[in-house]
Amino acid sequence: MPQKKKTLIMKFGGAATKTPECFSSLAQLILERKNEYPQIVAVVSAMGGMTDHLISLAKQVNPTPPHREYDMLVSAGERISISLLAMALAAQGGQAVSFTGSQSGILTTDEHSEARIIEVRPNRLHPHLESGKIVIVAGFQGVSKSKEITTLGRGGSDTSAVALGIALRAEKVEFYKDVKGIFSNDPIHDPEAFFFQQLTYEEALDVVEKSGGRVIHPRALKLAQKNTLPLHVRSFQNLEGEGTLISAMNLQSVGTFYEE
Ligand code: ASP
Ligand code: MG
Repeated sequence: MPQKKKTLIMKFGGAATKTPECFSSLAQLILERKNEYPQIVAVVSAMGGMTDHLISLAKQVNPTPPHREYDMLVSAGERISISLLAMALAAQGGQAVSFTGSQSGILTTDEHSEARIIEVRPNRLHPHLESGKIVIVAGFQGVSKSKEITTLGRGGSDTSAVALGIALRAEKVEFYKDVKGIFSNDPIHDPEAFFFQQLTYEEALDVVEKSGGRVIHPRALKLAQKNTLPLHVRSFQNLEGEGTLISAMNLQSVGTFYEE
């Protein structure tokens, strides 16, 4: 049997996509990782502040926007990021192609603005990955059985990244942050905060829940734990840094599990 190609999921949040210039740095970083991983999927959030801006636009037009239209609007933030990242990669000679959550086969429940992932069918992604292209997927969104665009709730891109990692049998998901990994407290406000090189899912959940879930969404941690998918929280400013590895101590996953 041919050896399965190594797959890596790289997740970039709003802090990594604040300005147009950020996309060139991320493209460079992705191309660097491509030397090690033949198959890369980048999962991207909306540019920093974009989702808040879209929500405020909605509220100015209608204080209680219809849920369906709210999702149509806020899902656009990630669509801006994925296309810009694909353009930045092309500018550096990279072969990249972007997809919405729906195009990527992220199937969800139909609760608009708080949908949960039922299954991922990444059929459209496979041929691109096999041909060596970098696949870029919009986080935070999916499609319901009734073919409506849904979003997963604030901070939902982390969960998108983990769900894709499960479906694509990725080696791990790397979360790129503006900090070097997980600390016992927010290092920006607490200089005494302790840095963790390695955590189990339980330990990570505990730390993250205490610190308000800013570094990585607890929902994404729970989904990774269900499937024993290793996670790596690291800095987008410094690839040399080791970051924080999150994994089970010894258990092996026996199957594929989604949120519902
Ligand atoms: N852009 C969405 C939000 O701001 C999703 C995410 O960032 O994960 O909540
Ligand atoms: Mg965001």
